[in-house]
Amino acid sequence: MAEAKPKPKIKKEAIEMPKQEPKARVKNFNEVALGYDEEQALEEASRCLQCVKPQCVVGCPVEVPIPEFIKCLREKKYAEGIATIKAKNALPAVCGRVCPQEEQCQVKCVMGKIGHPVSIGRLERYLADWEREHGFQLPEKGKPTGKKVAVVGAGPAGLTVAADLVKLGHDVTMFEALHLAGGVLVYGIPEFRLPKKIVQNEVNYIQKLGVDLRLGNLIGRTHTIPELMKNGYDAFFIGSGAGLPQFMDLPGENLGGIYSANEFLIRVNLMKAYNFPDYDTPIRIGKHVVVIGGGNVAMDCARSSMRLGASVCLLYRRSREELPARKEEIENAEEEGLVCKFLAAPLRFIGDEKGWVKAMDCECMELGPPDASGRRRPVPIKGSEFTMETDTVIIAIGQTPNPIIQRTTEGLVVNPKHGTIIVDENGKTSLDGVYAGGDVATGAATVISAMGMGKKAAKSMHEYLQNKK
Ligand SMILES: Cc1cc2nc3c(=O)[nH]c(=O)nc-3n(C[C@H](O)[C@H](O)[C@H](O)COP(=O)(O)OP(=O)(O)OC[C@H]3O[C@@H](n4cnc5c(N)ncnc54)[C@H](O)[C@@H]3O)c2cc1C
Ligand code: SF4
Repeated sequence: MAEAKPKPKIKKEAIEMPKQEPKARVKNFNEVALGYDEEQALEEASRCLQCVKPQCVVGCPVEVPIPEFIKCLREKKYAEGIATIKAKNALPAVCGRVCPQEEQCQVKCVMGKIGHPVSIGRLERYLADWEREHGFQLPEKGKPTGKKVAVVGAGPAGLTVAADLVKLGHDVTMFEALHLAGGVLVYGIPEFRLPKKIVQNEVNYIQKLGVDLRLGNLIGRTHTIPELMKNGYDAFFIGSGAGLPQFMDLPGENLGGIYSANEFLIRVNLMKAYNFPDYDTPIRIGKHVVVIGGGNVAMDCARSSMRLGASVCLLYRRSREELPARKEEIENAEEEGLVCKFLAAPLRFIGDEKGWVKAMDCECMELGPPDASGRRRPVPIKGSEFTMETDTVIIAIGQTPNPIIQRTTEGLVVNPKHGTIIVDENGKTSLDGVYAGGDVATGAATVISAMGMGKKAAKSMHEYLQNKK
C-alpha cells in the first residue's frame, strides 16, 4: 500500500503586509499599507482551512462567502474570486482597507485558536486591487421592473442599496449633496488610509451597473422627499449619514484655531488643503496640535496633522484599553510620533489677544463604574487641573445626523435624543415605502455596519416594490 503523503504544515503566523516606513510616510499623504503581492497573497490564502461550517462568514455583516473566495484565489481564479465577493459586497477595495476585520470575520476565524487568524481583509483587498488593474466584469441584471427608487446619500449604505436594487432591475437614482460620491470614504477617511481613486473606482462600478448618480443635490433643499414622492418614485432609502459634529460646550470653544474633526478633515482630504496653493483651500495648522477624542476620526485628524508638520497630542478621557479606534491605526499613529495623554479632559480654552487659541485648561480623570455604554465612566479627580499650551485644537468626540431631511419629511419618526431615524430590523421607517440605514439610523458606526443595514433594507425594499401596484 502506498504511504500516505504527510500533510503540509499550516503556518500559524499571518503574512505581514508591507507598509511605508513611519519616518517616510509621516511626510506624505500616500497610502501607508502597500498590499500583498501575488506570492504573499497565495501564501496567506494557503493558511485557510476551508472550514465546512465557516465561522468567519458568521462574523461578516454582509455574509461574504469567505472560504469560497479564498479557494478561488488559491487556484489563481482571480476574476471568479472577486465576482464571489461582489455578489455580496459592492465595495471590496474599501472594506479590504478600512473594515475592522479583527472584530468581525477574523475574530471568528478558527486559525485564531492556534495562531493568527487568516488575514481575510488583506486577501479581499488583493482581489479588489487585481480587478482594478484588469478591469471589472458586470454581473447579469434582472429584467426592468419599471419601479423607480430614490436613494439619498452616496455613502456606503446608499451605494450598497443602489447596487443591490439596480441589479434586481429597478430604476435607481442616487441623490448626493456633495460634488463627489463616497460619503465619509471620501470626505472623512484620509488619502493615506483610503485613496480617493479607490473609492471612485467602486463608485464607477455602481454607475456602470446603471445607477443614475446626481451630485450636488441636497435633499431637504434642492428637492424634498414628499416632492419626489409626487414625482413618481415608488420607494426611498435615506442613507444620509451622521455628518453633524458634536461640541463640548466649553468656555472658549469658539476661538480661532479650534476645528471640528469634520471641518478639518473635509479641508484636508476633500479640498486638498495640504496642496495649497495648487488647490484653493488653505488650512491654518500650528506647531502643537491637540486632538480631543479616541476613535478612528480622532486618529485620522492626528495623523493628518502630523503629515502637515505639527507635533500632536491626543487627549482622551478614558485609558488606553478603552480607546475605540482600530488597534492597527493606533499602532500606526504611535509609530508616526503621536503622543497620547490618557485620563484627561479639557475644561476651557484660552485665547491670545487676537482671539486664537493658545492654551487649554484640563483636569485628570479616573475610571469609575461602567456607564450606559458599558465602558467605565471617567470621573474628574479634584485638584488635578493642569494647563497645556497649544495653537490648534481638533474636536473629534462624535457626530450626529444632520436634521434637514427629518425636518422636511412629515411623519418621519426620529429618536428625539440622538436625532437618528427610527427603523425596524429591515430598515423600514414610520413612512410607507421609506427606508433608512447606516449612520443616520444607528449614529456614527462603521462602513460594514452601514453596508449590512443597506443590504437588509434593499431586500425588504425589493419585496415591497414587487407587491406595489
Ligand atoms: C474620519 C472618519 C474615519 C472613519 N474610519 C472608519 C474606519 O476605519 N472603518 C470603519 O468601518 N468606519 C470608519 N468610519 C465610520 C464610517 O465611515 C461610517 O460609519 C460610514 O461611512 C457610514 O456610512 P453611511 O452611508 O451611513 O454615511 P456617510 O458615509 O456619512 O454617507 C452619507 C452621504 O450622504 C450625503 N448626504 C447627507 N445629507 C444629505 C442630503 N440631505 N441630501 C443628499 N445627500 C446627503 C453625505 O454628503 C454623504 O455623502 C470613519 C468615520 C469618519 C468620519
Ligand atoms: S474560519 Fe478561517 S480558516 Fe475557516 S474558512 Fe474562514 S478564513 Fe478559512
